Order: sequence, then C-alpha cells, then structure tokens
Amino acid sequence: MEDFRRLRIGQGMDVHAFAEGRRLVLGGVDVPHTRGLLGHSDADVLAHAVADALLGAVRGGDIGKLFPDTDPAFKDADSLVLLEKVAQFVRDEGYEILDVDSVIAAQAPKLSPYRDQMRENLARAMGVAVENVGVKATTTEHLGFEGREEGISATATCLCARCR
Ligand code: MG
Repeated sequence: MEDFRRLRIGQGMDVHAFAEGRRLVLGGVDVPHTRGLLGHSDADVLAHAVADALLGAVRGGDIGKLFPDTDPAFKDADSLVLLEKVAQFVRDEGYEILDVDSVIAAQAPKLSPYRDQMRENLARAMGVAVENVGVKATTTEHLGFEGREEGISATATCLCARCR
C-alpha cells in the first residue's frame, strides 16, 4: 500500500495550427506532408503534450513556464531536447518515469507508419524503455479543428513514482 502512495499521474495536452512552409514534426519524426505546424520551437505537439504530462506528475508547472516562447534560445528548438531536459528535471525532483501513453488527433496525414519511430524517439529522450511509451493516432471524423485540418492536437498521460 505504501508503494502505491508514491505513484503520481500526469496529464498533458497541446495544440498547434497548420502553416505553409513549415516541417511537420511529431514525436521527433519528420512526417512528409503538404504543411507543417506553426510554433516558436519545432512545434512538436506530441513531445509537448508528453513533456506537460511529466511536469504534471511532479507538479512542476508546464513547459510554457520552463521554456517561454519569448526566449530566443528556444526558437526552432528540437522538442526532443526539451523533453530530455524535462525528464531530467523530473528525476532531479526525485521521481522515476514509469509509463507514458499518448494520442495524436489529426485528420491527415496518416500517422501509423511513423508510430514506432515516435515511440523510440520519445523513449530515448525520456530515458525509458520503448515498451513504456505508447503512441496512438486518431482522426476526428472531420469534426472540430483537427477534422477541418486546421491543426493537430495531442494528449498524453504518464505515471511516475516518487523515489525519495
Ligand atoms: Mg506546444
């Protein structure tokens, strides 16, 4: 029972809008598409949702607080590097990352061919095993901003354990 009390859950959510002339980076994978996502960093909506889930579990604020989009240091930043820093912060706070699951909501492009590469990238950045990272993708049946292909959203959930 004592061990269960060390568990913390975290939830993260992010949205980025499509824009012309941008790369589409999801979970560190450059996905071929006609447009990419707009953002100060590489706009990796999945990596951002996962990072916010981790921060949620340790009550560590959010990535907007850690990496302000007004800071030129994070312009076009590789979000996997940001995720790596967040995972290190989580460990420094005395927590272990146990398990992460996530969902990308995008009408297009088709993401299933890239899912395993995304899992590997996210796992490497967080320093956990691939089997502890889930990535799923869904369309929204043409409903909402994702369905109208105005943008992509991602949500993530994680389980962390307090080690000290
Ligand atoms: Mg973001």
